[in-house]
Order: sequence, then C-alpha cells, then structure tokens
Amino acid sequence: MPIPIRSCIACRKRENFSELLRVVRIGNQVLPDEDHRKFGRGAWLHRSCFDVAKERRSFQRAFRTDENLSTDPLEKFLTNKL
Ligand SMILES: [Zn+2]
Repeated sequence: MPIPIRSCIACRKRENFSELLRVVRIGNQVLPDEDHRKFGRGAWLHRSCFDVAKERRSFQRAFRTDENLSTDPLEKFLTNKL
C-alpha cells in the first residue's frame, strides 16, 4: 500500500500524511480534523507551520476564498497541544 502523500499548505513540502494535520473549513471557520472524519474541503499542514500559514493567508488559498476565515478554533487546538 502506498502511503498517502499530502502537501503542507504553508511550506508546500510533500509529506507522509500522518506528519500533517488535516483541517477543514466549516462556514468561515477553519477547524482541526484530527481523525479525518469531518466533511468539507480539507487542507493539510504541519502543526509547526500554522503561524506561517496564517501570515501568508494559506488557508484562504487552500479553501479558494477571499473571505476572512477564522483560525481561532485551530489556534486554540494547537495551543492546547503544546
Ligand atoms: Zn509545512
């Protein structure tokens, strides 16, 4: 079985998907999807790339929108993990 490879939306590095966190957009919020069960368009990033992703608006690019997306739920999730 080939290992699924995904690209981080911030640094663009290709990676075994288990190294990346899946996030989904629900409404205007970006939510973590740790067990890959949430519906919606997904994006993948390194947990350590969150700040870069936020700064570069990688989430807007990944979800193809110009709207402001709230990354607060994701930020809270990552902070609690530290
Ligand atoms: Zn990255």
